[in-house]
Amino acid sequence: MNALPAYDPEQFSACAAAIADAAREFAAMGWTPATSSNFSMRMDDGDYVAITVSGRDKGRLGSDDIMVVDLHDHPVATERRPSAETALHTQIYRRFPDTRAVLHTHSRTQSVASRLFGREGRVRLQGWELQKAISGHTTHESTLDIPVFPNTQHMPELTARIDAWLDTGRPLHAYLIDGHGLYTWGRSMDEARRHLEALEFLLGCELDLRRLSS
Ligand SMILES: [Zn+2]
Repeated sequence: MNALPAYDPEQFSACAAAIADAAREFAAMGWTPATSSNFSMRMDDGDYVAITVSGRDKGRLGSDDIMVVDLHDHPVATERRPSAETALHTQIYRRFPDTRAVLHTHSRTQSVASRLFGREGRVRLQGWELQKAISGHTTHESTLDIPVFPNTQHMPELTARIDAWLDTGRPLHAYLIDGHGLYTWGRSMDEARRHLEALEFLLGCELDLRRLSS
């Protein structure tokens, strides 16, 4: 028995189109290799999330490649099973009620940075003008920490680590998973995309600095 009403198909179509548009651009940038990565948007009523079905080519998503889940990862009005990483998306929607879009990519830059900084458990960004692209950061003089969590196929372990970080009260705009990729989000698809583009750029700058100064 489901107490929640079925979702509005027009809302679903709008979210699916926005996800497919963004995913096509990220795929063209090479950030979603070999059907990896996943993207989601919270639907207007707040209780449902439109999310990519796992294993699909992110450069050519249609509405069949996007499904609806509730905030506890249960599929809504579909026989499809959501990917295991859906739990990482719904965690962000539960913890941040104003979040509307969550983006997860596997770019080469993100993957290499996650390995390099995994030992330190975080990437500390300081002194970069583009930090201002992250909401709440108004100056390059601020410090922006992107935690790197160990990779695991056991999602409850990963969500527990993310909850533990959030429970300390530290800000969280994004995180890396070691050897895996990046998660970031925003109060709109545009904001989430800005965060993803800025972080991809900033992680690339950090890698270049390490390379040039060694
Ligand atoms: Zn992934």
